[in-house]
Amino acid sequence: MPDMTLRAGVDLGGTKVQTVVVDEQFQVLGQHRLPTPTSGGPQDVADTIAETIRAACTEAEAEASELGSIGVGSPGDVDDENGIVTSARNLPGWEGSFPLAGALQGALGPRVSLGNDVNVATMAEFHLGSGQPYSSLLGVFWGTGVGGGVVLDGKLWLGRDAAGEIGHMVVKVGGAKCPCGRHGCMEAYAGRGAMEIRARELFKKGEQTDLFKIMEKRGRERLTSGIWARALVRQDPMAVRLVDRAIEALGAGVASAVNLLDVEAVILGGGLGVRLGDPYRKRLEHAMLPHVFADTRPPPVLLAQLGDLGGAIGAALLASEAEAVQ
Ligand SMILES: [Zn+2]
Repeated sequence: MPDMTLRAGVDLGGTKVQTVVVDEQFQVLGQHRLPTPTSGGPQDVADTIAETIRAACTEAEAEASELGSIGVGSPGDVDDENGIVTSARNLPGWEGSFPLAGALQGALGPRVSLGNDVNVATMAEFHLGSGQPYSSLLGVFWGTGVGGGVVLDGKLWLGRDAAGEIGHMVVKVGGAKCPCGRHGCMEAYAGRGAMEIRARELFKKGEQTDLFKIMEKRGRERLTSGIWARALVRQDPMAVRLVDRAIEALGAGVASAVNLLDVEAVILGGGLGVRLGDPYRKRLEHAMLPHVFADTRPPPVLLAQLGDLGGAIGAALLASEAEAVQ
């Protein structure tokens, strides 16, 4: 037996599947990413995950069968005990339940642990990233949706299993329709999915924007974080307006959560958060201020240090914790 255990971590997102292979210090030895399938069903997603794991292993000069374990951070309702993911609505044809752990274990061999994607990314920042100095924090993952993770007294707060849904903090009663079906949620204004729906509506009505030109030029079907970032650099009026609106909603929602929890820090991650980076981290801090009750000492907003790979590294962390309790 080699004394170095390699682990794979998979960040299963609505846009991409990002996988890393790490050593025992969680240093990344190999990584691979593929777009999340936009059609088909859970088995197609599982096949894509397996492909990224094999490719990341090749880069790490290992075989998938040699991995100590595999961790997957997944959207939807995650039941790690039974290896099942249910209602992962950002993924194609995944309204029902699918035995993701079994499918991957069958294809690759090693034991598979599952965790909620956002919780996994929050714990990665807490243990290995910007959250290391603190014992309480709020992770805000600004991407396709807006996910949240809460750490209190050094522990992930799960509530009755659904805590941290910061995207569904209500920022406007009777406001815009959220992808969750309710109205006025922060995500209805700030989620990349909702922002794209709004951009398409405005574009159809004849408003000018370069967003879709950039999308076509880059051969994409969706307004990815990179496309929003490029449009902002060009000062595209629609992109600027929709991102301003998103920041305003984030400011109100995140500040409201801070008023309740009084955490030591807010960590901003997610596709858009990481891509837009420091200027927008500052803007969020500023947008929160009018809503923070303890306004003489608002918590700092920090960028997720593990960046784009945080979710995948966190999933590898999850795998190592699952091995430890075995
Ligand atoms: Zn909602």
